[in-house]
Amino acid sequence: MKLAGDVALVTGGSRGIGRAIALELASRGAAVAINYNHSALAAEEVLEIIRSRGGKGMAVRGDVAVEQQVQDMMEEIAAKLGDVQLLVNNAGIHEDGLMLSLDRGSLDRVMNVNVGGTYNCTRAAARGMMLARKGRIINLSSIVGERGGKGKANYVASKAAINGFTRAISLEFASKGITVNAVAPGMIVTELTEDLRKRHGDKYLDKIPLKRFGQPEDVAGMVAFLASEQAAYITGQIFVVDGGLGLAPNI
Ligand code: NAP
Repeated sequence: MKLAGDVALVTGGSRGIGRAIALELASRGAAVAINYNHSALAAEEVLEIIRSRGGKGMAVRGDVAVEQQVQDMMEEIAAKLGDVQLLVNNAGIHEDGLMLSLDRGSLDRVMNVNVGGTYNCTRAAARGMMLARKGRIINLSSIVGERGGKGKANYVASKAAINGFTRAISLEFASKGITVNAVAPGMIVTELTEDLRKRHGDKYLDKIPLKRFGQPEDVAGMVAFLASEQAAYITGQIFVVDGGLGLAPNI
């Protein structure tokens, strides 16, 4: 599953799942642009690890929710590494709470980053992919996008939207040599789930057939496969990586 010669952009590659994806793609030979919004030091650290292993990449700031910043970021990557053939729309946020305590602003913020960011980055990268007639787009969804989840209506709506977006765009881009898929993780050990694991960890563990939380590397392996030549005939699909959690009744 070699990716030598490919240029990858991992949004939110500074921390958590995105960090593991950036390291995995680089280990397979891709030059990786590590996007971040606030965590400049963490992004530089990921880049240092890649370089120390003989790989190539760059750290690049940009708020994925802001179209102009995404455009600028894509130009910076093209100038330093070349056109992006491998886009991983990973950047995401959550603002959990019961529906009546969630104000309208929380919906806008979550949708702007999770869906708007995916939309902006896809639009910005797709032109180059179409010209090259080669591309892979992999979107980070969540198991809650299909099955729902209490206390996270805005986040669930954003992940359901990403699933729909993935399917729609896969149809549009198929004839251009571009595949589009999504990966839907369950409960993965990152800062995003820290609070939830602290408060309800045992309840979740009990429901996970494989009896452990996922590690970012568990998700990165699936992304690397979808990025590879071996996945050339797969498009428009949502791949669950959750240790079986999605099979359990909702919690
Ligand atoms: P995380 O540890 O909180 O990291 C989030 C990453 O997204 C950070 O690198 C952050 O960068 C970046 N980011 C946030 N807002 C951004 C913006 N506006 N522009 C650019 N980058 C931005 O989250 P994670 O757990 O790794 O989650 C990664 C993805 O997987 C998300 O889409 C999440 O919804 C999805 N997911 C996670 C889980 C899980 O169990 N962890 C489960 C299902 C789905 P800065 O720090 O630089 O701002």
